[in-house]
Amino acid sequence: MSDHPALHAAAKTGARTGAPVVCLYVLDETTGRAPGGAARWWLAQSLRTLGAEIVARGGTLILRRGAAVGVIPDLARESGARAVYCNGIAQSPHQAVEQQLGAALSKLGVDLQIFPGDLLIPPSEIRNKEGQGLRVFTPFWRRVKSLGDPPKPLPAPERLPPGPKIASATLESWTLEPTQPDWAGGLRESWTPGEASARARLRDFLTHTARVYVGDRDRPDRAGTSGLSPHLRFGELSPRQVWHAARFAAAEHPALGPDVEKFLSELGWREFCRHLLHDHPDLATENLQANFDRFPWKPDKKALGAWQRGRTGYPIVDAGLRELWHRGVMHNRVRMVVASFLVKHLLIDWRDGEAWFWDTLVDADAGSNPANWQWVAGCGADAAPYFRVFNPQLQGEKFDPEGAYVRRWVPELKDLPAKLIHQPWRATPVELASAGITLGKTYPRPIVDHARGRERALAAYAKIRKG
Ligand code: FAD
Repeated sequence: MSDHPALHAAAKTGARTGAPVVCLYVLDETTGRAPGGAARWWLAQSLRTLGAEIVARGGTLILRRGAAVGVIPDLARESGARAVYCNGIAQSPHQAVEQQLGAALSKLGVDLQIFPGDLLIPPSEIRNKEGQGLRVFTPFWRRVKSLGDPPKPLPAPERLPPGPKIASATLESWTLEPTQPDWAGGLRESWTPGEASARARLRDFLTHTARVYVGDRDRPDRAGTSGLSPHLRFGELSPRQVWHAARFAAAEHPALGPDVEKFLSELGWREFCRHLLHDHPDLATENLQANFDRFPWKPDKKALGAWQRGRTGYPIVDAGLRELWHRGVMHNRVRMVVASFLVKHLLIDWRDGEAWFWDTLVDADAGSNPANWQWVAGCGADAAPYFRVFNPQLQGEKFDPEGAYVRRWVPELKDLPAKLIHQPWRATPVELASAGITLGKTYPRPIVDHARGRERALAAYAKIRKG
């Protein structure tokens, strides 16, 4: 409820005029991309805590399902509203909906007021001379920073004047949470959705972890990052709140300066991805570099299934995919490794991997997910060059040197010594036996040889480069 410009303005008007405020959440599955399974679970928890916070301030949260263009004018009519306040979403289908909504409401004599959404800066303010968005991160971020601090976050309203009694759907009737089977145990164990938990996590990060951010952020075996992505994704925390809290921490403890700069630049990537989505609404389906339209992908259901289940025979890849299934997130470094493995070693279309992440990530984001997949695949804006093919074994040895991350998520390998944990296929029969491993049975052999996979990827890339 804090830094929610629309709610803030509505509560202020209510306090001034005595008019009641009706809080509405619309589950609109007709606009944009429907949330995946893990995100639906998060949404249910998040709405539950939001509803309780609204009640604690004297209001009620009304839940309705359907197209926002229909649901909102209906509720305006039912409640006799004079004005509708909402935060805008700077993305293509949502902007069209905002226009249609404005027209529908004005027919009812209801004013629509749209406030800036959850970005540091609107895409319209970061343009090149031709009026287009920037496609390279470094100049983009330089430009954002040159504009100075974003506006200070707004406080949550203290009171919400109660509205008339209005019918609301129940959260249960939306079946956002899995029941048969209930696969969300790992999510419940790992996360507490909601604004209070988001704020506590930010505070904890800035007090303890931020000081090691530069050194540890690439280490999946350490708690070196903030874990804020799902809270940001669901608007439980705004990027402005994160920005100002981080800057404040660095002002109080100047030694934190470089870590905070790096951390804010990661928040900058979130912003960059959202701006890209604004300019490229088809980001999840269309290659940003058109030569990739001719890329010879090799659809392979069996290999895709082995990757999804974390059974590729490459420990760091398998650990990442199993962490994803259990916790609904994966460490950023490992996201890059598993994505590169799918696209380059297996030659499976990046869209298949993106779709799996979309369904399983609690932080699945319409901008960050496809933009990062395109970045790894080599077809994106400011992409990693396609010919840079991560070696999963070396990535594991570099970023998980003792193998603690692999031991946690691939327990069948836990008794291998550190020098073998990222390459069990090189262990002798005696070493395997003493770790209780039978390759091909208790743990798979690599589904593709690294050197062969790499060569095949480069040959495929050469085809599209030649035209
Ligand atoms: P921190 O290191 O603490 O970073 C702080 C914040 O910066 C994050 O919470 C996030 O909002 C933002 N951020 C950090 N890195 C990136 C990045 N590369 N791109 C965009 N924003 C970033 N992030 C998502 O939020 N949603 C996604 O759907 C998503 N899909 C990804 C898919 C792939 C293939 C890859 C390689 C990365 C993806 N990321 C995605 C980016 C990144 O992995 C996560 O944001 C990060 O792991 C979240 O952990 P954290 O909050 O501890 O990050």
